[in-house]
Amino acid sequence: MKVLKFGGTSVGSPETILNVKNIVESQSEPVIVVVSALDGVTDQLLRTARTAASEDSSYMEQYSVIVDRHRCMVDAVVMPDKKEAVAVKVNELLDELGNILKGIYLIKDLSPKTTDAIVSYGEGMSSILMTGVIEGAEWFDARKFIKTTSYFTKHIVDMELTRSLIRETFKSLPKVALVPGFISSDKNTGEVTNLGRGGSDYTAAILAARLHATQLEIWTDVDGFMTADPRVINNAYTIESLTFVEAMELSNFGAKVIYPPTIFPVFHANIPILIKNTMNPDGPGTYITREVESDQRKAIKGISSINDTCLITVMGLGMVGVTGVNYRIF
Ligand code: ASP
Ligand code: MG
Repeated sequence: MKVLKFGGTSVGSPETILNVKNIVESQSEPVIVVVSALDGVTDQLLRTARTAASEDSSYMEQYSVIVDRHRCMVDAVVMPDKKEAVAVKVNELLDELGNILKGIYLIKDLSPKTTDAIVSYGEGMSSILMTGVIEGAEWFDARKFIKTTSYFTKHIVDMELTRSLIRETFKSLPKVALVPGFISSDKNTGEVTNLGRGGSDYTAAILAARLHATQLEIWTDVDGFMTADPRVINNAYTIESLTFVEAMELSNFGAKVIYPPTIFPVFHANIPILIKNTMNPDGPGTYITREVESDQRKAIKGISSINDTCLITVMGLGMVGVTGVNYRIF
């Protein structure tokens, strides 16, 4: 069993969605497919909600852009025999979304809880849509098995509960299980929550680790990890293999290929990650494992960078055990 995650750009246009269909349908083993919202939709949802909260009725135009985008996509890509059922479900979600936005506009208030509800519609709709695209796909509700608990203002995954619910849910696997990424629910209140921006990768990693997948594949819009940011260094090239630790370092320090927390669960379960380009499925991608072959072992694998950030190193024995030093530095 493998877990395949497709990001927003992979489900952003009819052409890329067709590539996703081909990639998934050509798999010979059962797969879990995790999808992001259609490219740009999470940002659109947040923008529309903020417009509504500021009592600006132009939120309605922003909302209708989201409506049209999803309706056109259903029309363009869903298989004829599933079109009606998918359209009904997507329209239901769009109506709910419209009602929530209207509520925000009327009471001029946008709480974190409502924001979480709003953004969940992105993956909610994209995942329903994709069940109508991929032959034999069965939809699974991530809110039922990815459970979070609140930690100050953040939602963090309750791993123990989540792991047991995943096991329960996927006792038997269909040929293709389709799961919305990013979305979760609070273990106490049941309210919809999420794993943070870029969190679909994390959903996929948690599933892969718990179900002992043979591989976690992250399908994105680049060929893999690059030796440097190609927008800065024009002869940067794809790195064929990395260790988990190297990938974690590159991700934490600016490489935007995967959401940094993603590596942790699969690292522990020792499940390799393959980064692939949906637009170039024949490219080799980047393969991430615990060890890499010795001829691949170079001192420097890649250089990542973060703009507009200074790194300041402060050292000296005078700091050891001296209370208040950090306070004074900051
Ligand atoms: N749709 C969410 C975001 O844009 C999650 C994801 O794409 O991984 O952050
Ligand atoms: Mg992403």
